[in-house]
Amino acid sequence: MYSCCGELSSAHQMFDEIAIPDLPTWNSIINANVQVGSLDVARKLFDGMHERNVTSWSCMIHGYVRQGEYKEALTLFGEMLVFEKDGLEPNGFTMSSVLSACSGLGALEQGKWAHACINRYGIEVTVVLGTALIDMYAKCGSIETASWVFENLGANKDVMAWSAMISGLAMHGDGKECIKLFYKMMDDGIRPNDVTLLGVLSGCVHCGFVNEGKKLFKSMNNEFGFHPSIQHYGCMVDLYSRAGLINYAMEIIRSMPMKPDVLIWGALLSGARKSQDIKTCEMALMKLIELDPTNAGAYVLLSNVYAKMGMWKDVRRVRDLMDLKGIKKVPGCSTVELGGIFHEFYSGDDSHPETREIYAKIEEVMNKLKMEGFVGSMEETLLDLDEEARETSLSHHSERLAVAFALLKSSPGSTIRVIKNLRICVDCHEAMKMISRVFDREIIIRDCSRFHYFRSGTCSCKDYW
Ligand code: ZN
Ligand code: ZN
Repeated sequence: MYSCCGELSSAHQMFDEIAIPDLPTWNSIINANVQVGSLDVARKLFDGMHERNVTSWSCMIHGYVRQGEYKEALTLFGEMLVFEKDGLEPNGFTMSSVLSACSGLGALEQGKWAHACINRYGIEVTVVLGTALIDMYAKCGSIETASWVFENLGANKDVMAWSAMISGLAMHGDGKECIKLFYKMMDDGIRPNDVTLLGVLSGCVHCGFVNEGKKLFKSMNNEFGFHPSIQHYGCMVDLYSRAGLINYAMEIIRSMPMKPDVLIWGALLSGARKSQDIKTCEMALMKLIELDPTNAGAYVLLSNVYAKMGMWKDVRRVRDLMDLKGIKKVPGCSTVELGGIFHEFYSGDDSHPETREIYAKIEEVMNKLKMEGFVGSMEETLLDLDEEARETSLSHHSERLAVAFALLKSSPGSTIRVIKNLRICVDCHEAMKMISRVFDREIIIRDCSRFHYFRSGTCSCKDYW
């Protein structure tokens, strides 16, 4: 009762007074913590348990997933399986947490392993678990398998399953299929919810389907009878900005009943950057800094905007402000998974034990690309707004380190999968396209907003991102 009411300290006090707590009591105190995000406390209790059942393990794994500590969650799941000999087996709840951890990491190999566990333990693939599988395969870059799982759910698919598939297609830049599926869902008599609409709108965003997006956005109020949330408004701002329709984007911002957040201004900013609209860039950046005074990227971009306009006094002012507030930039970080192990690289990183080999490989790759006519992108240097470009040489951006490492370590012809925390820059995007052709590799990069599939010299985003 105390934990249900959020009275954690009373719950804990009560727990301490019980001389020999039984298993359900232990589980409920662990769950109460986990619920409020006190993971350290939960873990201490968990470690102190003499007997644990599947609920105890699942609760703890779920706790890590909720806090975004995906690696910890997977490690704990691995430890849980050791007790298989004692009759301990995961259930659907355990597996859906494990799948979420894999989605968060973009870890396809682990995801496949989790799927195999579901089969091995004979766990029923309910709609909930099926949705987690669809989400995992989509977020780990295997949209074909996501689609396969989706089809296998048969007639039981609920709105969440449809929405997961629609969002997956959107993230993979397949706007046409995304919209098709949306209408198919309605034909099947399933009413879309806000998540579905978010998915199909972001499908329009990634493909530049302005008219379709406009129509869908209108239909939310008129046809489906719910008010758009800030995320839906964000999609519309993104849609218009990317298509270069900055005025329309501004109109949406003005019409919003709520206060625009960092995502809205961020979307406007990236559109304005693309259309080289310096004034709008400045305005969006000021708003971003106002909302989050520690947003390092925004300060750097703002100082670059002033540099571009030759306003050197303002450049100095912004830089001083950063020093004064002790603001540090978020470094670019890419991870690549090889044989189930994650290798993490920061831009300009030299901490990897095989740094020498990696940098030598980058040089070899870049020389080969230059021989093939690679000139890099002029665009980025023209409006030098990239968060990473200033401090690190372009060819040492984190994704290049990751790809070079993968080229060194993986078998020829195998697919390279990279997850990156920031948006991929134009120069790296060009380089990746060419690497995919020259080295005959499929390269899949998930950046902070979508997937890029580089195959034989082209990218699935068709340079629209
Ligand atoms: Zn780059
Ligand atoms: Zn791309």
